[in-house]
Amino acid sequence: MSGFYRFAGGRILDPSRGRDEIGDLCVAGGRFVDPASLPAETNWEWIEASGWIVAPGLIDAHVHLREPGDLQKETIASGTRAAAAGGFTAVVAMPNTRPPADQPNTIGWIRERTREQGIIRVYPTGCLSEGRRGEKLAPLSLLHAAGAVAFTDDGSCIQDAGLMRRVMEYAGMLGLPILEHCEESSVSGGGVIHEGYWSAVLGLRGWPSAAEELIVSRDILLAELTGARLHCQHLSSAGSVRLVREAKQRGVHVTAEVTPHHLALTDEALSKYDTRFKMNPPLGSEEDREALREGIVDGTIDLIASDHAPHCSFEKEVEFDRAPFGVVGLETMLAVAAETLVKTKLLDWPGLVARLSTIPARVLGLPGGTLAAGAPADLVVIDPNLQWTVNPQIFRSRGRNTPFAGWEVQGRVMLTMVEGKIVWRL
Ligand SMILES: [Zn+2]
Repeated sequence: MSGFYRFAGGRILDPSRGRDEIGDLCVAGGRFVDPASLPAETNWEWIEASGWIVAPGLIDAHVHLREPGDLQKETIASGTRAAAAGGFTAVVAMPNTRPPADQPNTIGWIRERTREQGIIRVYPTGCLSEGRRGEKLAPLSLLHAAGAVAFTDDGSCIQDAGLMRRVMEYAGMLGLPILEHCEESSVSGGGVIHEGYWSAVLGLRGWPSAAEELIVSRDILLAELTGARLHCQHLSSAGSVRLVREAKQRGVHVTAEVTPHHLALTDEALSKYDTRFKMNPPLGSEEDREALREGIVDGTIDLIASDHAPHCSFEKEVEFDRAPFGVVGLETMLAVAAETLVKTKLLDWPGLVARLSTIPARVLGLPGGTLAAGAPADLVVIDPNLQWTVNPQIFRSRGRNTPFAGWEVQGRVMLTMVEGKIVWRL
């Protein structure tokens, strides 16, 4: 292998520079290069890309790799392989591991493990509070120094507004974003599905949208007070979209994400008590799904993130109330997003790639999201027309808990490259 690659005749999409044209993209020494800058006799390895999209590697802002602690669910080795197959060159790892990433040595361990066993970039996050208990501030500056790129208690939410204000002040001083799992737990109150028509019909305890909206509005006010960078994770309700839209119009530094499952599904999917559709926040109503689609199209919601949350099959194969929350998403995110947004003509491919790569890089302050000459050669090659059927039995992830099993989808990752190295090829 020469290390000199020429992706020939593809649709080169680079939202960071508004580029969308048929052409060649060249890689040498692990970086994007202008072929004119290299000798004519350069021995390129040609990769025929006609009919395919060549784009900056996808970046997932919300992934549970489960390591350290829950290797039966996922590992850094299996999770990064699943990510590579899904077109991702970088993922942001949530800190709700065992132990939680609330100490610098855990952040250091995750980085070391990634160097040994990972095949794409893993950016660890640190906890906001010690043990994610929402009582005492985690050592934010030490976590930052150890390599945390953001702070979050994801899976839980600090309930005490005074503590949240202090957390925002510290995170703001360090210049890092807070990734908030928005849930007022006295209002969500142990609910297992969205509170509405289906919770009543099925007799399951409801989790009302107000539980999310209370924290979205509280945190917007606190972000305004402190100047912190607030990023609202996995928005699920029309009311939350409205709150973020209004805050952005007032100039508050708030960003937001939505998952493919909240864009694709509604709580009607729960009608058979299937635990593969149980996640937190729960799937909302048709009105919520419409508002989320509108929000991702008009830029109120900045990016799409998977909230990849693998669980063992035996854990999910229990009665609905007792099953853990969460679905896997790394290997289906691109296709499901394309089905819900591109096929429906809500977005075009450049718009989708921006929300899966360039914008996540910008929101989180990470490298990538560009094909600019000189940048590390992190890229994805997509066949936008290839049809395939989602089969969890062949996932690289250890998790099989997808709500999309059996879906016929269009759009497939053909190749993923990290820093000039091919990490996935179909
Ligand atoms: Zn969460």
